[in-house]
Amino acid sequence: MFNDEKELISVYHVLLYYQFVAIDDPDGFADQHRQLCNDLGLKGRILVAPEGLNGTVSGKVEACTQYRDTLVQDPRFASMVFKIDESEGHTFKKMFVRVKKELVTFRADLPSNPLEVTGHRLTPTEWKAKIEHEDVIIIDGRTDYEYDIGHFRGAIRPDCESFREFPDWIRSHFGDKKDKTILTYCTGGIRCEKLTAFMMHDGFTNVYQLDGGIVTYGKDEQTKGALWDGLCYVFDERVTVPINHTADRNVIGTCHHCGEPTEHYVNCRNFRCRAQHLACEPCEALFKSACSMECMVAPERPVYN
Ligand SMILES: [Zn+2]
Ligand SMILES: [Zn+2]
Repeated sequence: MFNDEKELISVYHVLLYYQFVAIDDPDGFADQHRQLCNDLGLKGRILVAPEGLNGTVSGKVEACTQYRDTLVQDPRFASMVFKIDESEGHTFKKMFVRVKKELVTFRADLPSNPLEVTGHRLTPTEWKAKIEHEDVIIIDGRTDYEYDIGHFRGAIRPDCESFREFPDWIRSHFGDKKDKTILTYCTGGIRCEKLTAFMMHDGFTNVYQLDGGIVTYGKDEQTKGALWDGLCYVFDERVTVPINHTADRNVIGTCHHCGEPTEHYVNCRNFRCRAQHLACEPCEALFKSACSMECMVAPERPVYN
């Protein structure tokens, strides 16, 4: 047998997935699941709630394949969709499996169970056709800082720092537009499941969601991520991933220091701050990776005497 050196280099996968399904014993499930992930050497963040499972993990390809195979053997997750990215290594530092009340903290005063009702699902092709040719309102179902690094052309910036602010924001901004065609999108689709469920309970009549989210849209062969500007924020060490693979793409981020266009995210060097901010490369060097003058002169890491 050949010893092809290239094949010896480990290739990693990054998985993103969710399933709304009743989990009767979230604590017991989480304990077992944590064991499975540790045995497979996976790293990432997984949430378990009475309403389902939501996770993003990285691991060696074989480990990720085994993980997927194990999960889909459970009838509750038989139809779960995994979005798969390739990576040169882990994109997380640790493995967390946490039990929560809700998969996405929404705390709406109306039901938001997507198993009962949720917005119409659009495939990437259907989504693109609608935003290109129809009179629609596009709502970014994420937070303001995610919007600022990249979003669909024409989408409305949510004035929300966290997902729980959405019910109030939706009511105050779109309360008089309940019969309009409204489209929502988010990273992997899970937030829109709840957001559109809430909107339909609140009386909106024509609500659509991008099935599989931005990540799926960016992998779609037909649309090639068209009409997305900037990058897509992700919750792991990659920080952002590209979505639009066409020539028609705008850079929309601006440097926090000088205002020039940039897509370069920096974690503030000050260990007490660590603010993620956009900085062009000259400013990153000038400010020594700090977000402000104060942080530039603050200690980089804890000082022990
Ligand atoms: Zn700059
Ligand atoms: Zn800072």
